[in-house]
Amino acid sequence: MTSTIPSFPTIEEIRARAASTEVPALLMTVAHVTGDVSVLRDEWRPDPALLPASGLAPEIADAARAHALDRLEAALAEDRPVSVEPPAGVLEAIGRWSLGETADGIDDLIEAAFVPDGVDPRAPRWTLEELAPGRTFDVAIVGTGISGLLSALRMKQAGIPFTIYEKGHEVGGTWSENTYPDCRTDVHSHIYTYSFHPHDWPSYFCRQSVILDYLRGFAEKNGLLEHIRFGTAVAAAAWDEDSHTWSVTTVDEEQRETTTSYSVLISAVGQLNRPSIPAIEGLEKFAGPAFHSAEWDHSVDLAGKRVAVIGTGASALQFAPAVAKIAEQVTIVQRSAPWLMPTPELRRDIGADERWLLACLPLYRAYYRLSIFLPRVIGQLSAVTVDLDYPPTERAVSAENEQLRRVLTDYLLQQAGERTDLAEAIVPDYPPGSKRIVRDDGTWVATLKRDNVRLVTGGVTRADETGIWTSGGEHVEADVILFGTGFKASEYLMPMRITGRDGRDLHELWGIDAAAYMGITIPGFPNLFCAYGPNTNLVVHGNLVFFLECQAAYVVDAIRMLLEGGHRSMDLRADVFEAYQDEIAEQSALRAWGWSKTHSWYHNAEGRSTVMWPLPAQRYLHGTAAAQPELYDIA
Ligand code: NAP
Repeated sequence: MTSTIPSFPTIEEIRARAASTEVPALLMTVAHVTGDVSVLRDEWRPDPALLPASGLAPEIADAARAHALDRLEAALAEDRPVSVEPPAGVLEAIGRWSLGETADGIDDLIEAAFVPDGVDPRAPRWTLEELAPGRTFDVAIVGTGISGLLSALRMKQAGIPFTIYEKGHEVGGTWSENTYPDCRTDVHSHIYTYSFHPHDWPSYFCRQSVILDYLRGFAEKNGLLEHIRFGTAVAAAAWDEDSHTWSVTTVDEEQRETTTSYSVLISAVGQLNRPSIPAIEGLEKFAGPAFHSAEWDHSVDLAGKRVAVIGTGASALQFAPAVAKIAEQVTIVQRSAPWLMPTPELRRDIGADERWLLACLPLYRAYYRLSIFLPRVIGQLSAVTVDLDYPPTERAVSAENEQLRRVLTDYLLQQAGERTDLAEAIVPDYPPGSKRIVRDDGTWVATLKRDNVRLVTGGVTRADETGIWTSGGEHVEADVILFGTGFKASEYLMPMRITGRDGRDLHELWGIDAAAYMGITIPGFPNLFCAYGPNTNLVVHGNLVFFLECQAAYVVDAIRMLLEGGHRSMDLRADVFEAYQDEIAEQSALRAWGWSKTHSWYHNAEGRSTVMWPLPAQRYLHGTAAAQPELYDIA
């Protein structure tokens, strides 16, 4: 990073939009431009829980803005070049100022998270031709979701031939499959973005179609579409010990099988793409339409219908309120109540002035992103960590977890108000952090209070022609059944048949406990890399896109290692894998999701978590920073 910023807007243009600036990002920008961290005054220190907002009283925020703009005006008047690289000490000062002592020891995480517009720090700085001129080397990527497209870009940047297989007809993975009403991200859009490919997002938490357009645009702009074989599923992949390649068998829509060899196989199939519909006795007898949130049947008109919604996870909390606005009657069947994270801006658009600042004021967007990212990536791991002396219960796993429970319970009870029946039903009976805490702007409880909505607690025991039966013995009459019942998240890489060294079948080896070092590599399966693999999901302590970028960087470095050394394959050492697995298992047991026995997709059928990352985010950054040759048997 050594380039300079070509130009700034005039100070008048910036001042005209001053009221729309977030004070923390503005002060960080000014600290960068001036190189003077004294603008990060104690009295303007933000509340980390509220970032990117400051939480300052309006008059104090205005004073901070006025000072920042005066400093910016003076700096711009000097007309000195401003480097995109932060002056020495600025990022560290920003970390301490915005996070206090939690920022100690995470300078490298802050540095990795700060990506100014126009910079792609993790792009490979080498090409195949430079490292291994004339060598035949190619890569197969499975899936065109966020990770598949990212892996593809990295291969393109390195000049490595690659093919992406996509079973569908559209890029975007989960964002092309889930089209249910009001589907949107529940991660701030500005950090649900490739760090090096920023976007002028119209809302704080964008809708599915907007995210899909972003991913399509990314694929088009980077020339990735011509590498994609749409309508082609990878059915199997087998390691060939003689040629040190993967024989990848694909099936197209005419059921034609093709087998092609590749030096490297990258699985980017995602975790949440295989809908889970519970095995409900008698469901086949139900006379009306019944479908899953990820397979929304838009031909079914819900207007005037009696609708049964099964499930109260992140998907149902988005589609059920929209359905309630058009259906005659909605019965929501809740097996466990969701914890809700108050997020007033969840369905709000970003104002024109704020969008202008993010797009046109250099560095501001990068610091805005950093200020969202930092508190979330440091997160609340401590609040979901089990204190064995507390002692942990299904109410709370530690004093800090109990504190979080109180805050979240207050939010629910306040909304239930006079409705004591609801209050009883909507407060979860498991510790916060045991499963995803769903974002909410007041819409959920308001929906439950509607005259045409009824919340029924319990599971579903069976179905018949006219509806479903709940575990409470109630028959719910319905014209349509909507399943918001989640995904088979623990069944990684299914239904592909992956055969490694000595004919070992990956799924037989895993059983129900999928595992991979850093979620990426598996012993006995050389040159196979997983993106968003086992134990790389996050609940309150990270940012998924950042993790995906770490994984892609690791794969790039592994390929560099192969090419530079003239190696044919790399196979994770079994002892490295076992030590890593022991640590993951031990730490998972000490997190709320590992401890609690509540139902959750964070568990497999026997209650072990092969899904969640149980350690601090910086541990993942360090673990994926470079492909260390000593961890691998290299051929
Ligand atoms: P989910 O979180 O797994 O929720 C499934 C729901 O169905 C739960 O309420 C579950 O109850 C219920 N359920 C499952 N089987 C049942 C049965 N046999 N009887 C009654 N209820 C049953 O699934 P999801 O809502 O699709 O979300 C999955 C994940 O996708 C989320 O956690 C999130 O990571 C991601 N997601 C993200 C977004 C976004 O960014 N906007 C939106 C949607 C989803 P229990 O809780 O008792 O198991």
